[in-house]
Amino acid sequence: MVKKYRLSERDNDLRSRLIEEQDDYAIFTLDLDGNIMNWNPGAEKIKGYLPEDIILKNFRLFYTQNDLENQVPDSLLNQAKSEGKVYNEGWRLRKNGSQFWAGVTITAIHDDNDEVIGFGKITRDLTSIKVQEEMRQEYLENLQDKNQELQQLTKIASHDLQEPIRNLNSFLDLIHHEFGTELNPDLTVYLNYISGSAKRMEDLVKGLFVFSQLGIEKERKKVSVKDLFEDVKMDLFSAITDSGVELSCTEMPTLSVYEVDFRQLLQNLLSNAFKFRRTVGTPKVELSCSRDGENHVFCLKDNGIGIHPEHHKEIFLLFKRLHAKNKYEGLGLGLANCKKIVELHGGRIWVDSVPGEGSSFYFTIPG
Ligand code: ADP
Repeated sequence: MVKKYRLSERDNDLRSRLIEEQDDYAIFTLDLDGNIMNWNPGAEKIKGYLPEDIILKNFRLFYTQNDLENQVPDSLLNQAKSEGKVYNEGWRLRKNGSQFWAGVTITAIHDDNDEVIGFGKITRDLTSIKVQEEMRQEYLENLQDKNQELQQLTKIASHDLQEPIRNLNSFLDLIHHEFGTELNPDLTVYLNYISGSAKRMEDLVKGLFVFSQLGIEKERKKVSVKDLFEDVKMDLFSAITDSGVELSCTEMPTLSVYEVDFRQLLQNLLSNAFKFRRTVGTPKVELSCSRDGENHVFCLKDNGIGIHPEHHKEIFLLFKRLHAKNKYEGLGLGLANCKKIVELHGGRIWVDSVPGEGSSFYFTIPG
């Protein structure tokens, strides 16, 4: 039972004035049948009725035909009666027939014997919030659909394109094998160009397929990042030896990650750090990790060629490369993969770099 306070006349007056002067909320009372007993300026503003048009009419006239057929007003009054109050959102009608999205609280009013004698009704016009929410939802759904379509397309295209490339390579092999000695030198040069392009196309399509497959790992696993780092070091043994890099790693956490993808992330960042080293001095690369609130912040720092600030964002795009392929090999997929992997883990990735001095690739992993 709600504790009742006896208000002084002044407090009662203040309370009436509060309701009278409130024009953001429709505040009025109903009798037990739902007839409207009074009407404040907020109600007039939201619903469009003057007090003389509406007092003693039934509140059911605010409800849509559909809600009336489903007995929404009656069930709200019954619920307020049995539970003390009820909150409901839905489309309601204004005097001019237009609709607004209402957030409504109906509260049972009791007499001194705790008998329900009527209801208080507070309504807020939430139309603009509702419309914004619906637009956001629609936009999100559209985006998710488009994203799925795109992923499907990438997967199918990259998979199916491998077949004609295989054919091209087989026929090139056949020509070399059957007519190799008879080919004139010009033709041999042209065929080598075709072979080179076919090989690159094959690598690109395979790379794209790998990109489209990221995220199919469903289960996360607790792994020691230090152990993963050591594994990747083994995989990159010849790149480490060839570059003469001094590689170090500070203390690392144990994390719940998509293991195959996370390993790929470390591998891509490390191989870039080795590849884009300067021609003078000893290349130095360090992986470190710190904590920032909810996130682990990893940093892979190198003292390589660096990246001009104007490229800091675009290097994470698919196929984006900053150098001719005869200077540094690559497909421009490594960092796009890294971005996708970090985002699959709920984190973000960015670079801080000074041309000629080195780069620090940062990524966060929540948890
Ligand atoms: P790829 O290495 O195949 O070219 P990535 O997507 O891995 O493609 O990298 C995109 C571009 O970003 C590279 O071509 C290079 O210009 C630049 N980049 C990446 N990592 C580094 C790094 N550690 N130092 C300097 N430049 C880098």
